[in-house]
Amino acid sequence: MIDLHSHTSESDGTFSPAELIAEAQRVDVRTLAITDHDTFAGFDRAKELAREAAIELICGIEISTKLMGQSVHLLGYFPRRDRLGELRHWIAKIQTARRERNTRLAARLRALGVDVTLEEVEARGRGMTGRPHFAQILVEKGYVGSLQQAFDDYLDQSAKGYVDRREPQFAEAAAKIRGADGIASLAHPIRVIGDVSAMMPELRGAGLNAIEAYHSDHSVQDTQTYLRIACDHGLLVTGGSDFHGAAKPGVELGTGRKKNLRIPEDLLAYPHWRCTGL
Ligand code: AMP
Ligand code: FE
Ligand code: FE
Ligand code: ZN
Repeated sequence: MIDLHSHTSESDGTFSPAELIAEAQRVDVRTLAITDHDTFAGFDRAKELAREAAIELICGIEISTKLMGQSVHLLGYFPRRDRLGELRHWIAKIQTARRERNTRLAARLRALGVDVTLEEVEARGRGMTGRPHFAQILVEKGYVGSLQQAFDDYLDQSAKGYVDRREPQFAEAAAKIRGADGIASLAHPIRVIGDVSAMMPELRGAGLNAIEAYHSDHSVQDTQTYLRIACDHGLLVTGGSDFHGAAKPGVELGTGRKKNLRIPEDLLAYPHWRCTGL
């Protein structure tokens, strides 16, 4: 099997890089991309282990971007890894902005009466501490009953604890990925608000060159829709489970939710999706 979208504990997944490689071996995923949010640390730690396990590991990343007022996730894939220097530098700046946001978020929550410090949140999230780690602490300390409630009551954009984070514009992130010889793929397009097909000329113009037609949140019909869009706009097709371990219960590596994910084995062998049959 092939799975081009997964997260480790270096971002908001619960499996360490070593555990993710072991899981890929267990479920027979032979080609795996690690696409942690805003960091290559998981990939860096897994690379050698993947080689030992004879798993083809593809270097990837998932970047949260701003596009016309919404937050859109962009996947970057770097099958050749020789031009990542500038991108790593740019990502370090995103991490600095994230840390600064986390400082303000901890202060804001304390002002709302929550007993939380930046240090205890960073002890969990390390290099990629984010709102999901704040949510865990809100649950553990009994302020809310679930991770979802933590977002609804405190952390969501519409909630009382929300503080803004400077996210890169979609076009900037796409340009950085393409500038590193990467493939820029629109992640889980089902979550994009609006007519994705109508947005495509603009996104293509910004450098997007792939779409994640296969994803564990997509129905068979959704996948067909996005394959059609790939065909109409000349995009490559990518696919993955978006595995996060226990942070996303019910989503399995390689097979998604209750085996709803069937990613063609030849996805990478035929990068230019052939429109026949659609
Ligand atoms: P951050 O990048 O730290 O702002 O956190 C963003 C992450 O929080 C996303 O990738 C999601 O995993 C999670 N998240 C954001 N909004 C919600 C929400 N309303 N409900 C549940 N999880 C959310
Ligand atoms: Fe995530
Ligand atoms: Fe995402
Ligand atoms: Zn993801």
